[in-house]
Amino acid sequence: MRRAMVAGNWKMHGTRASVCDLVSALLAQDLPESVDVALFPTSLFIAQVVQGLVGTSVGVGGQDCAIQPQQGALTGEIAAAQLVDAGCSLVLVGHSERRILLGESDRVVAQKFAAAQSVGLVPVLCVGETLKQRDAGETMQVVARQLDEVIRVSGIQAIAKAVVAYEPVWAIGTGLTASPLQAQEVHEAIRKQLSDKDVGVAMATRILYGGSVKAVNAADLFGMPDIDGGLIGGASLNADEFGAICRAAGI
Ligand code: PEP
Repeated sequence: MRRAMVAGNWKMHGTRASVCDLVSALLAQDLPESVDVALFPTSLFIAQVVQGLVGTSVGVGGQDCAIQPQQGALTGEIAAAQLVDAGCSLVLVGHSERRILLGESDRVVAQKFAAAQSVGLVPVLCVGETLKQRDAGETMQVVARQLDEVIRVSGIQAIAKAVVAYEPVWAIGTGLTASPLQAQEVHEAIRKQLSDKDVGVAMATRILYGGSVKAVNAADLFGMPDIDGGLIGGASLNADEFGAICRAAGI
């Protein structure tokens, strides 16, 4: 049985004051014990969020890491080992904003995934197609290719120690959500891709859905058999909304 997970990607949002308020408001939420909850603040605020969550089971992660796992001469980057030192247990890799706006290739994403696991972080691997790719009928190939590169570099067993997040690019921050059936179709294909290589890995791996998830649509999405929770962007900046999404995953 896979434990549900809800992760909040705060992206490049927040100030010291607003982060303080958001953490306090989240602590006041009734978060279900059956759901793993994690937050991904801007790197600047990781220490503050870790500190604010001491004594809770909410995990904290980085939004990205360098391909080089250990600290070194790489200006502006953050090593996976530094995230561990700061109190992180997870890291996002391959978010579409980085793939598209910063040109991160499948190969670079796979290297970041490997770097994260080499120091004990749980990578949350984001995969997903653009609208153009969906309209061209390429959704399954694109997602399979993104996942395959990680399997090629790290091996199939590595996926069971990670989390996969299916995030259709056209649904991120647009207010357009994949319908539960559209999302389930891709989640099922991802699990089939894993199960063709190793059934145990396929059954154990959590696959989250991300893309304009809100309290109002979360329960329907999370009710699908292959959707194990969500990666939440905009709605994770509102504690009431995020708390309600976490509760929807706990039903
Ligand atoms: C995201 O950026 O990972 C995301 C899912 O964003 P939103 O929920 O705002 O669409």
